[in-house]
Amino acid sequence: MTKRTRPWGHHPLTDNAQPDWQMHPDTLAVRGALARTGFGETSEALFLNSGFTYDNAEQAAAAFKDETDHFVYSRFSNPTVAMFENRLALLEGGEAAFATATGMAAMFASVASIVKAGDRVVAYAAMFSSCYVVLTEILPKWGVNTVLVEENTPEGWAKALSEPTSVVFIESPSNPLMEITDIRMVSDLAHKVGATVVVDNVMASPVLQKPLELGADVVMYSATKHIDGQGRVLGGAIIGTTKYIKETVLPFVRHTGPAMASFNAWVMLKSLETMTMRVERMAENALAIAQALEGHTAVERVVYPGLKSHPQHQMAMQQMKAGGTTVAIEFKADEASVFKFMNALQVIDISNNLGDSKSLITHPSSTTHRRLPLEVQAEMGITPSTLRLSVGIEHKDDLIKDLLNALKVI
Ligand SMILES: *Cc1c(COP(=O)(O)O)cnc(C)c1O
Repeated sequence: MTKRTRPWGHHPLTDNAQPDWQMHPDTLAVRGALARTGFGETSEALFLNSGFTYDNAEQAAAAFKDETDHFVYSRFSNPTVAMFENRLALLEGGEAAFATATGMAAMFASVASIVKAGDRVVAYAAMFSSCYVVLTEILPKWGVNTVLVEENTPEGWAKALSEPTSVVFIESPSNPLMEITDIRMVSDLAHKVGATVVVDNVMASPVLQKPLELGADVVMYSATKHIDGQGRVLGGAIIGTTKYIKETVLPFVRHTGPAMASFNAWVMLKSLETMTMRVERMAENALAIAQALEGHTAVERVVYPGLKSHPQHQMAMQQMKAGGTTVAIEFKADEASVFKFMNALQVIDISNNLGDSKSLITHPSSTTHRRLPLEVQAEMGITPSTLRLSVGIEHKDDLIKDLLNALKVI
């Protein structure tokens, strides 16, 4: 009996036939890196196995020496996970990817695999609170020195990047206040001092922003957000050059074990098929909502990069295809009244997730950013009167009606 050779591995493209032209991202999201088995299944196969077998001892030895693409163990790599990684790398315009169990595992591995004691990391203060904890509490315990940029201006960044630096970490737009960082400007400055630029592209999603095209070196995702986008599974991903993934990330993650489960990768592959449509609809809805709420008597300000009133509107429109899927709203009301407003919503759910098909609203100060002291929250622009609305794919009229109705209680 002859055994089939296994066509997959950490390749940007698989052995399956590809057309002789460069496909659009929308097509790649459905068909990129599709690797069918000999059964010719339509949908991507789910390889729910931890280990792999070998034809003979020599084949096993060669696989462990990385001389072949034979899969070894699902902590390292798995055919379904590899399909997800390869497809995401294609969509992002990166050479290779590694998928992780959560977004935080991706964030941690993307930075921790680079730095060593004595190294310097520079980041902008407005970021997801767990990323903030990794950079300002966990890595410093191991002798890594994190410097937070105080002013998100060319001068502020130039000052922070005037000495040798290992990693620059940027979240743009930031969660929850949709602050924009000029990825090209920061990447140029960072490269002059030898830094690897890591962008947390969660808020923009692969649909609205391509950091690698803007000069960044590495992109990381919480795939839990827009990539799954339907509230089902957790996941994350790191995308970069083959050299970075193979020589920096893999030696770290193979032994520390943050691998994505193949079932989750299979769910994510199906999610990628509809991601463009979902995110475009969410961004369209978000703009309509931001416009409907701006200027309302109970609203102090609406923060949405797609609005002309956003202080970085022009830069946002230069580096993103649309203003994003999240709207931050600051009310002219105290926390108790803001809670009343949330409780009066009939369609939009109260939830701290984002990037979901369902519109979700959260009060960052008491939930997602609760872990941060009030003064750090204030630096990020978060007050007890701020809400973050993650806009879903429902009809925009129902969402606007729900918000305007609930505003009557304030
Ligand atoms: C959610 C989120 C993360 C973390 O992702 P998990 O999948 O929840 O671990 C990181 N960065 C940003 C901007 C996020 O919104």
